[in-house]
Amino acid sequence: MREYAMYCADCHEYTDLGAFVEKEGHFEGEYSLLHNRRANHNEWLCRFLIRHAGHTLRMTENRTEAYAELLRSAARFLESDIDEMVEMQLERRRLRDHELAAERGLGQLQLHVLRSLIAQEAEAIAREPTDNAAKGQFLLGKEEGLKQALRLLDDLLAKTNLLYK
Ligand SMILES: [Zn+2]
Repeated sequence: MREYAMYCADCHEYTDLGAFVEKEGHFEGEYSLLHNRRANHNEWLCRFLIRHAGHTLRMTENRTEAYAELLRSAARFLESDIDEMVEMQLERRRLRDHELAAERGLGQLQLHVLRSLIAQEAEAIAREPTDNAAKGQFLLGKEEGLKQALRLLDDLLAKTNLLYK
């Protein structure tokens, strides 16, 4: 796999970018030994670019002499903060997942409330006395409509349940 590092020739410092994640449009980012994973974020690259604004930057590819040389001799940008940065990224992701789950839970709850309201309405109509055939027909139609709405809601609930699993 093709991997990259961004190097500043003026400061003799680099940041490891890893591979480019094509489908998400960012680099894998710095690698944390502690967490045994990459940041999966461009944050370190952005900080590197800001810190070295106006300097002579060079993008290098792995499996080249220049790449091997910079890994050997150049300083790694903010090396002592990488573990903490990756930890923060993980925390942000956990938080986002948690919020997403809460939102989905609320959405499901609203669907269930709506379902029980419609079911109550259908039951109330079924209990209504029918004095004549025309009214009976009318109520039957109304009840059928509500039952159809319940079937659609059940469908939707089943589908979203599957989707959120
Ligand atoms: Zn620099």
